[in-house]
Amino acid sequence: MSVKKGRVFSGARPTGRQHLGNYLGAIKNYVAMQDDYECVYCIVDIHALTTVEDTFNLRQNTYDMALDWLAAGIRPEETIMFVQSQVPQVTELHTFLSMVAPLGKLTDLPTFKEKIRENPNNVNYGLVGYPVLMTADIVLYQSNLVPVGIDQAPHIEFARELVRSFNYRYNSDALIEPQMKNTIIPKVLGIDGVNKMGKSLNNHIELASTPEETQKRISKMVTDPQRIRRDDPGDPDVCNVFSMHKIFSPAGEVEMINVECRRAGIGCVECKKRFAANLNDHLAPFRKKRIELDANPQAVWDILHDGAKRARVIADQTMAKVRAAIQLPL
Ligand code: ADP
Repeated sequence: MSVKKGRVFSGARPTGRQHLGNYLGAIKNYVAMQDDYECVYCIVDIHALTTVEDTFNLRQNTYDMALDWLAAGIRPEETIMFVQSQVPQVTELHTFLSMVAPLGKLTDLPTFKEKIRENPNNVNYGLVGYPVLMTADIVLYQSNLVPVGIDQAPHIEFARELVRSFNYRYNSDALIEPQMKNTIIPKVLGIDGVNKMGKSLNNHIELASTPEETQKRISKMVTDPQRIRRDDPGDPDVCNVFSMHKIFSPAGEVEMINVECRRAGIGCVECKKRFAANLNDHLAPFRKKRIELDANPQAVWDILHDGAKRARVIADQTMAKVRAAIQLPL
């Protein structure tokens, strides 16, 4: 077995069935990192509670997301994949960290301001502490690296400062200061061709859809807005369908479209059909595996429970150090 370069932690809220944005922006990278790092991937259901009020779908969304991760190639024998709330030590560490977390800094973070703009009627205490809980996640599992896009950089910087403050206050080296693993996260646009792909805007393409649903969704994709009629020449450089072709289609086909679109040799309808066919081919093994896994839901929950069990072993080690550092009574 190859020697791994360190431990990576990443978490995502349980948003249910995953879409192409999640796949290209997160899951693909999660899968690839397993080759070089020890990986801890967490479905952060406690974080979700900061904004989700109706928890009716929480379990199903957790299950669907786990299914997608596994079908996409997360290897649970080596990677620790689990649900945040099943390792309750994280809430304990969150409380201890909150005593050294400067409130002013938390309320100044751009992500906090964005959240209160989005949810003005639900500005709760947990929302302010979101980055503290995120720090607790990272350090509880003694992670060295956190892969994040540039918009999450302030959270990691905050986590690093919080770790230093904790270690300084209690004169200890109980917690490991994590490093940011700068990841280029592409902004995948939705089928509207303008906004970031996401469920809330219903502009997404789900990985687990049938080939027919996928084809139908793709047929609605907005292309070059200047190209109105079939015989207008198009500009692939501003077309979201073309950017998808560049990811999912063979090089020769991409080149052909690049040339033919510009001289109206190929129409948008055919171009989308080709993309749908290539995407469906690409996702066929994923979908096959997903159906196999879904035949036995208990096995998927068992994988998550086993992940939590392994995570708790690391969590207990960290908490023993934390308790000793604070000099809590034995
Ligand atoms: P979270 O807020 O927990 O990160 P999201 O569902 O918003 O949950 O995103 C999960 C992951 O998928 C994140 O790493 C995010 O960057 C990525 N992601 C989501 N939508 C897109 C998109 N349209 N383009 C690129 N990456 C995306």
